[in-house]
Amino acid sequence: MAFECQQCGECCSIMGQVLFVSRDCGDRRYILTNRYTGEKTLVEVDPDKIALYEDQSTTRRFPESCPFLRFREQDSRAYCTVHLTRSDMCRDFGCWRLLILKPDGSRAGRVMYLSHFCPDDPDLARLWEEQIRDIEDPGDEAWDRAVITVLTGAGYSVRK
Ligand code: SF4
Ligand code: SF4
Repeated sequence: MAFECQQCGECCSIMGQVLFVSRDCGDRRYILTNRYTGEKTLVEVDPDKIALYEDQSTTRRFPESCPFLRFREQDSRAYCTVHLTRSDMCRDFGCWRLLILKPDGSRAGRVMYLSHFCPDDPDLARLWEEQIRDIEDPGDEAWDRAVITVLTGAGYSVRK
C-alpha cells in the first residue's frame, strides 16, 4: 500500500537543521529555504491551522524542529502547519517500507531503508533480535515475506 504518515513528528522534529525561514513575506507567508540545496519554497500557514501555528510550545520543546511543525495536545499528533504549500521534498518523503502495528492499531515499529529497524515496542525489539535479525538478504521480496510471516505469527499486522 502507499506510504501513510502516522503523524509522529519524528522526521520534522529535526528538520530545523535543514530548513529555515529566509524571508517573512507577511500575512503568514514565508520563504522556506533548504540550507543544503538552496531550494526556496513559498509556504503559507494553512487557514485551518493558524491558532496551532501561533502556539510556539513545539518550537520550545524541540529547538531543532522545522519552524512549521506543531504538536497538538488534543490528539498528541504532529501537524505540518503549511501542509497545503509544503515543498516537494516534504511531499515525497516516506519514512518506512514496512510499518508494524499492534493488534490495537498503534505503531510497534518500522523497517526503514533496507532492513534498518526502528522499534517502538520492547517485545517487538526482542522478537526482532531472536527471530528476524539473522534472516538473510535484507530488503528483497523473499526477505519481506519471511519477516512478515514471523511478525503476523506473533500477532502484529504489517503494512507495506
Ligand atoms: S513521515 Fe514518518 S517519521 Fe515523519 S511524521 Fe510521518 S510517520 Fe513520523
Ligand atoms: S514544512 Fe511541514 S512537512 Fe516539511 S519539514 Fe516542515 S513541518 Fe515537516
